[in-house]
Amino acid sequence: MSHIPNNIEHIRTRIREAALTAGRNPGDITLVAVSKRQSIADIEDAYNAGQRHFGENYAQELRDKAVALSHLTDIQWHFIGNLQKNKVKYVVANASMMECIDSFSIAEEFSKRAKGANRTLDALLQVNVGREPQKSGCMPDDAAAIMSNIRLLPNIRLRGLMTVPPFHLEAAETRLVFRELAALRDALGGKDALPELSMGMSHDFEEAIWEGATLVRVGTAIFGERPPKSW
Ligand SMILES: *Cc1c(COP(=O)(O)O)cnc(C)c1O
Repeated sequence: MSHIPNNIEHIRTRIREAALTAGRNPGDITLVAVSKRQSIADIEDAYNAGQRHFGENYAQELRDKAVALSHLTDIQWHFIGNLQKNKVKYVVANASMMECIDSFSIAEEFSKRAKGANRTLDALLQVNVGREPQKSGCMPDDAAAIMSNIRLLPNIRLRGLMTVPPFHLEAAETRLVFRELAALRDALGGKDALPELSMGMSHDFEEAIWEGATLVRVGTAIFGERPPKSW
C-alpha cells in the first residue's frame, strides 16, 4: 500500500490546524504537491487521494508528466523552477501557474509564448528575500519596478509573490523571511492586487501559513525522499 494518501491526509490536517491557529480560513490555503523526480504512479496515487495541484521544476519533466497524465483533465501544474528562455514553451503549454518569474525579460518570453498559444498564464514574482548571491528571485528593492512592467504585458496575470528562504536558517528566522514577503506584498498593493503568497515547504509550511501563505509547496513530506537526478 502506498503511504502517499496517508501523508497527504496528515499534511492537510496540519495545514488546517496551522490556519486555525492563525485565525485563518483553511480553505484559503492550497497544497501544492511537489512531485519533481517522483514517478507517474506516485502522482496518480496522490491524485486519487484528492490532490489536484502539483509542482515541477524541470521544464521537460513537467511536459512529459503532463502528457502522460493528460487524461486527468483537472490536474493543475505549477512550475516552480528556473529556466532558460528556450524551455518556456514547454511550461506555457502545460502549466496553469508559473511561480518563478524573476525578471522582466523572462516574463516577456512567457507573455509572447502564452499569446502564441492563445492562453493566459497566472504568474508569481519570485523574490530573493534573503538577498543571497547566486539565488534566483529578484531583489526586494527591484520588485515594484519589475511588477509594474509585467503588468503591461498581455496573456500573463501577476497573482502574487513567491520565495524560497535561505536553507541554513532556523525556523524562527525563516518565519521572519515569510513575514518580510508578506510585508512586501502589502507595500506592493496588498491582497487585492496580489492575493497569492507561495511560501513554505515540508519543514516550514506551518510557519509560512502563520505568516499568510496561500500556496504551500510540499514535496518530501508527501512523497518521501526524492530519487537522485538521473541526468
Ligand atoms: C523541491 C522544492 C520544494 C519542495 O521541497 P520539500 O522540502 O521536498 O518539501 C518546494 N519549493 C521549491 C521551489 C522546490 O524546488
